[in-house]
Amino acid sequence: MTFLKELKNVCPNGFLSKKEDLFVYAHDTSQNPEKIILPLAVVFPKNTQEVSDIAKICSKYGISIIPRAQGTNHCGATRPSENSIVIHFSKMNNIIKIDKENLIAIVEPNVVIGDLNKELDKLNLFFPPDPSNLAVSTIGGAIALCAGGPRTFKYGNTKDYIINLEVVLSNGEIIETSKNIAKNVTGYNLTSLFVGSEGTLGLITKATLKLIPKPQTRLLTLCYFDNLIDATKCVNNIINSGFMPSTIDLLDKTTIQTIEKFNPCNLLIDKEAVLLIELDGFKQCVLEELKILESILKDSNASKIIQAKNDEENENIWKTRRSAFSALTQLKPNVITEDIVVPKSKIVDFVYKIQELSKKYNIIAATMGHAGDGNIHPNFALDLNNKAEKENFEKLKDELFYYAISIGATLSGEHGIGTQKKKYLEDVLNKNAHNKMKEIKKIFDSKNILNPGKSI
Ligand SMILES: Cc1cc2nc3c(=O)[nH]c(=O)nc-3n(C[C@H](O)[C@H](O)[C@H](O)COP(=O)(O)OP(=O)(O)OC[C@H]3O[C@@H](n4cnc5c(N)ncnc54)[C@H](O)[C@@H]3O)c2cc1C
Repeated sequence: MTFLKELKNVCPNGFLSKKEDLFVYAHDTSQNPEKIILPLAVVFPKNTQEVSDIAKICSKYGISIIPRAQGTNHCGATRPSENSIVIHFSKMNNIIKIDKENLIAIVEPNVVIGDLNKELDKLNLFFPPDPSNLAVSTIGGAIALCAGGPRTFKYGNTKDYIINLEVVLSNGEIIETSKNIAKNVTGYNLTSLFVGSEGTLGLITKATLKLIPKPQTRLLTLCYFDNLIDATKCVNNIINSGFMPSTIDLLDKTTIQTIEKFNPCNLLIDKEAVLLIELDGFKQCVLEELKILESILKDSNASKIIQAKNDEENENIWKTRRSAFSALTQLKPNVITEDIVVPKSKIVDFVYKIQELSKKYNIIAATMGHAGDGNIHPNFALDLNNKAEKENFEKLKDELFYYAISIGATLSGEHGIGTQKKKYLEDVLNKNAHNKMKEIKKIFDSKNILNPGKSI
């Protein structure tokens, strides 16, 4: 039997191989590939056994496997390579169990983060990782990229909420990395190894998540500044005063103006920067904290401080903030989002560098970021079909990344490496550690068929 026939036998009702269908799966949210590579087929397994059978067949024929959830990653992590198939996990999207007593949830990989939180909300529980596209992005994708979001500052990112994983290896073998139990130091921490591995070490078929009680109250403060330096100094003033807000997000003027035009929520468009500072916890504590916070903000040269009036307004502002990527696509056909983490003391220098390079290469840059973590997202709006603009962007990107590396930055805080940032990897990773990572890859995937060419 040929490879494709064997594959179709595993998923007779979840199999695509027509060229026009395959085209969709040649792309993700990253910039247009130089060369469009179509997978040989796309399969939609319904359970772990089918995933294992697919892996065994691919291993036998030496065909690569590209795991895919919603394809919303920014780094080319789901782009097919030559001689590959795509495993699409969309039929594995069940919340298997929410266990309030033990504070865990067991889910299939394609459960959407926003949907999970709606269910948890009913039980006053909470899964904190909050990528801005949580209305569509999945647990499997978030685990494979170790996604984060504004709340990472207080709550940590995906790696802090994964207790146990069921994983299918490249030869079809099924392993469980730990137990469905809150703490476990028995053997190596295999769970962590798979978090952030970009689908290069195994196929996640089930995940046990750590949950926490939902904070009773959330209070959002918008703090505007007439210059960027004051805004970033304010971040340190907040932290140095012993505060741990759940978010300290920074938006620059271009971002404020663009999102306000696209999805208005009365942001002040004449200001140079705004910090979105959210406090959460018991109401009395939050109200007390707010008083102290306000005095810190005033002492930090805030030019305007505005309080979200209620939960609805709070959520509306976050919705607008989450729409930043879509808003920027109104400016130019393509938007490329970078995800660099700099030491907090270097945020100002880095943001100025983005502005300088944006002028030098005449490319629109809108910068936002999780300033509490030093995780800065410059978004570049451009037309990749315009050759000069594309070349300018490549030069800008190189200059920006090498500058970032020179000030002690790292290449990604939450979006991953994929195919898009591999060029800079050797400048950042310790050489011996990088070699060990390659050896680990060989242990799990000796034929290099799992998402080849991504991450390390
Ligand atoms: C508008 C927008 C806003 C965003 N905001 C944020 C943000 O605030 N924070 C943030 O961290 N990220 C953000 N992202 C990017 C983010 O990385 C992804 O959206 C998300 O984490 C994964 O999305 P996904 O479910 O579409 O997975 P995909 O993009 O399909 O896949 C992501 C990775 O997971 C692997 N994978 C998927 N399923 C499996 C599986 N079952 N087993 C093994 N590997 C698997 C894929 O091979 C790939 O390497 C944003 C993206 C967009 C488009």
